[in-house]
Amino acid sequence: MHKLPAQPTVKAPRETFTGDAWFDVVVRGEAPSRIRVNVVRFAPGARNAWHAHAAGQTVHVTEGAGRIQARGGEVLEMRAGDTYVTPAGEWHWHGAAPDRFMTHLAIWEAPDDGVAETEWGEQVDDAEYAAPAKAAPR
Ligand code: MN
Repeated sequence: MHKLPAQPTVKAPRETFTGDAWFDVVVRGEAPSRIRVNVVRFAPGARNAWHAHAAGQTVHVTEGAGRIQARGGEVLEMRAGDTYVTPAGEWHWHGAAPDRFMTHLAIWEAPDDGVAETEWGEQVDDAEYAAPAKAAPR
């Protein structure tokens, strides 16, 4: 057993995020583990660009209110306690509500060697982001 050294909070990069978001790395598994867990904090209106995870991803909201959308689907509201699973290769984005902070755990696994963990596409523009959000099924 060992205690991980404290790691600084990292600002999400402009290339793949709109608005302000910050990461804290919780787990970055050492082989043979492939687990990855980050706490991600989004300011109101902040969201990531369209992207897909090679091995899929689970997002669990711990605080606030957010939005999530899969390619071709509706924008869905996310609230504290909600968990969404995006399968391997599914294009999607996630972020805060326009007027609320949102914090989620992002849980995923590294894929096989040589395969990128996440493939990034275009930013979610204001019109896409402003689409009416549907209440998530309870
Ligand atoms: Mn994702």
